[in-house]
Amino acid sequence: MKDCLFCKIINGDIPSEKVYEDEEILAFKDIQPAAPIHILVIPKKHIDSLANIEEDDEKIIGKIYMVINKIAEDQQFKDKGYRVIVNCGKDGGQEVMHLHFHLLAGKPLGEKIVG
Ligand code: AMP
Ligand code: ZN
Repeated sequence: MKDCLFCKIINGDIPSEKVYEDEEILAFKDIQPAAPIHILVIPKKHIDSLANIEEDDEKIIGKIYMVINKIAEDQQFKDKGYRVIVNCGKDGGQEVMHLHFHLLAGKPLGEKIVG
């Protein structure tokens, strides 16, 4: 999508520190890390928000979780633990309107909002 920041990262117009890439998914370091490890995992298909996923997107979302676990294993924090966050819409605090999964790790992540 033309004016989407993350689509520009996917097509290389904006640089990023890539952590993982395949034909459907890209993972790169967040520019303003909220933890020692803060990675964004995104579908290459432009989906603006979790609120607007379609039935066809089920598979890619499942695959994103598999990729998250692969990154956790490769970067050796799978055993210690991690947190995955999806901000959705205005009240959810979503700023970039291209579906993304925040993967946070590398320290005890502090206060839980739920649980
Ligand atoms: P959200 O608030 O859930 O929409 O998250 C957007 C995230 O994108 C924030 O954590 C930003 O720090 C991150 N971000 C914004 N621009 C870039 C960029 N050029 N490269 C990497 N991460 C970015
Ligand atoms: Zn996009």
